[in-house]
Formats: sequence, structure tokens, C-alpha cells
Amino acid sequence: MSFAGDVKTELCRTPLSRRCCAQAEAYGTLLYCNTFQSGEARIVTENEAFAQRLPVLFKKAFKLTFDRLPQRGGKQVFSITSPEKLAVIYQSFGTDPGALALHVNFAVLEESCCRASFLRGAFLAGGSVTDPQKGYHLELATSHHSVSREVLALMRELDQEPKSAQRKGNTVIYFKQSEKIEDFLTCIGAPLSAMEVMNAKLERDLRGKVNRRVNCDAANLDKAVEAAMAQVEAIRRLEREGKLITLPDKLREVAALRLAHPEDTLAQLAQRCDPPITKSALNHRLRKLVELGRE
Ligand SMILES: [Zn+2]
Repeated sequence: MSFAGDVKTELCRTPLSRRCCAQAEAYGTLLYCNTFQSGEARIVTENEAFAQRLPVLFKKAFKLTFDRLPQRGGKQVFSITSPEKLAVIYQSFGTDPGALALHVNFAVLEESCCRASFLRGAFLAGGSVTDPQKGYHLELATSHHSVSREVLALMRELDQEPKSAQRKGNTVIYFKQSEKIEDFLTCIGAPLSAMEVMNAKLERDLRGKVNRRVNCDAANLDKAVEAAMAQVEAIRRLEREGKLITLPDKLREVAALRLAHPEDTLAQLAQRCDPPITKSALNHRLRKLVELGRE
């Protein structure tokens, strides 16, 4: 299953204990589902857990059953067309089926438990989220523009800061940052999925750090190899010009060791001296050799 599917399955494990919350979740579902008009409420889903939850949800919220239930193997379509049932639904949200534009009735979302339930319903019906291994994007899409604007305000009240955009006749509310996606998922009842987003982020950050470290080490290695080559070149020139034998013992010892072990690191070469010397002493002598070689 996709990550979005996993999130919805986790959300559907939230118990339907309070009627106020069941109504709020159904409300969010209806405002973000395929069709919610005066003549029909139609919810289409691919998610098995949501398909199983819907009849229970509507029973708990409105004591209603769907007029159309999914056919076996077909698309999961749930629909209510009976005018009496629709009237019950609209009344519970304080509007009537003839309303021109739908609005969020904040009066039915006063309790914080209900607000979270409302957003859960909205996400189950009209939400999607990208696999955090591939990127960070969570969105809620509805064709009711004023609803989207009001949901945006509701989310800001809950200290969430989503962005908003128009797309193909829909208004989309979205998050692009992993922390905000985590907060939203935790708020609506998917803390395990939120944890997955967090882990994906940590892993990605760590991998980035390791890559930078490797690149940095490679650059340092290149520099060390370059320096050793310059040292060998300088020592050879001193040798050719007969200057090497005129140098003090300490410098001649280091020169001989460098020629014999051109790939040694400074630490390794310092250990080969007799007696061993410090890295900085070695570095000093090598620099002297390079200097003399240049003259
Ligand atoms: Zn509630």
C-alpha cells in the first residue's frame, strides 16, 4: 500500500466514541468528498479501511445508512440521495440543502476534539500525502472554495501554517515541510505515520551529512597527495643538483624517508624517523626541503 494509504488506515483505527466527533468527522468527509450537493452526497475511496469506517461513521453521526454501497470488486462508491436523509445531514450542520455555497459552520466545531475529527474526515476524503522517502508534501483538496478558505483559518487557529493554491477547479491546502506534516498527522490521529516522516527526515539528513563528510575527506586526501608529490619533486631536484648531501642529517633523513614512502601520511612518516618525531616537526622539515628545492 502507498504511504497515503497507510496513513488513512491508521486514521481509521481512531475509535468513534463521541457523537460530536463522529459528526465532525462526517462533516469534514462531506465537505472534501467527491460530491456534496443538494441532491446527493457521494463519497468515492480506494482505501479499504475508510470504506469499512464510512457506514459506521454515518450511523454514529446521523443514525443514517447509505442509499448506495460499493459493489464487490468495483469502485468504492457510497452515496446518499434520499431527500429526507440529506435534510437530516444538512440540518445537523446548521445549513439547508438549498444553500448556494457551502461554508464551514464553526459552531459545530467548538471542541478541540471535534476540530481534529473534522480535519481527519477531510483528509480521509480529500487528502493525500507523499511517501516521505521521496519528498514532503501533504494536501487537502476540495471544490468548495469558501470551505477551503475557512478550513485554512481553522488550521491557523490550531497553530498550523499551511499554504493554499488553486488547481483544476479545486482549492488545495498543503504543507511542504516535514515538521508541519508531522504535526498535522499527529493532530488528526496518525502519530505512527508522523514518526515515519520524522525518521525519513533524520535518515535523509544523516545521509547528506555523511556524503558531505566523504567529499570533504576526499578533498583533504587530494591535497595530501599533491603535497607529497611536491615534496618528492623538490627532494629529487636537490639530489640532482648535488645539494642534498650538503644538508643537515635531520633533513637528509626525512628526504630519504619521503622518497622511500611517497604515499605515507605525515603521521606515518613521522613514526618512521629515528627516533620518531612529531607531525609538526616533520611538516617543518618537509617544508624546508620544498623551499630549498625551489631555490
Ligand atoms: Zn468532539
